Amino acid sequence: MIVADWKPIETILDYLGERRHILIAGCNGCVTVCNAGGQKEVDMLARILELAGKKRGRPFRVTKITVERQCDPEFLPELLALAGEHDAVLSMACGAGVQLVAEHAGNREIFPALDTNFIGAVEEKGRWGERCQACGDCKLVQTGGICPVTRCSKSLMNGPCGGSRDGKCEVDNGIPCGWNLIIDRLEALGRLDQYETIQAPVDWSKSRDGGPRMLIRKDLQ
Ligand code: SF4
Ligand code: SF4
Repeated sequence: MIVADWKPIETILDYLGERRHILIAGCNGCVTVCNAGGQKEVDMLARILELAGKKRGRPFRVTKITVERQCDPEFLPELLALAGEHDAVLSMACGAGVQLVAEHAGNREIFPALDTNFIGAVEEKGRWGERCQACGDCKLVQTGGICPVTRCSKSLMNGPCGGSRDGKCEVDNGIPCGWNLIIDRLEALGRLDQYETIQAPVDWSKSRDGGPRMLIRKDLQ
């Protein structure tokens, strides 16, 4: 899932400035799963804004909506219709959802309420860890299902680097060495021979650095 968390309330209040009629828009996708921008968090943020507005003697008028996915235009018509009746939209979606709403919202201002952090997984209740950097050239078959791009701090395709100690990464010894994890996993799978094979560099042309990427599926168009 995409993992996100709240911006500081003071930052959100700064964004809103003198605007008082606010639409808070949640999303039922990833941000609901990571407890950052679903209906529950929309209710919480609305309550906080109401209290903050009253405290400053300038109350907000807040409307709430949560749609299935803000990153899909199919689910936006109701949100966009409401947006036109408000001074601004405070989107609690990930960055993709905020942008798609902004692209369709004409001259209505759309503000992000969240910081979008990474593609990750639940490690334990209340803790998420990064698992994928969307490199576009997935190597998991070679590494026993553990991502060297993400889990190795240097994104080495042939590791470890030599700095690993007691299974920890030399860059940050609070995290496991990704290559230590990969070797343990390959050993458990009886595939250590895979580790002996020198891996080609990542094809970074499929990654992020060449500008925004696009995926076209003719079968769906
Ligand atoms: S190899 Fe690339 S696509 Fe696969 S998990 Fe790692 S970053 Fe994601
Ligand atoms: S110690 Fe391990 S995870 Fe850290 S940079 Fe070296 S190989 Fe990568």
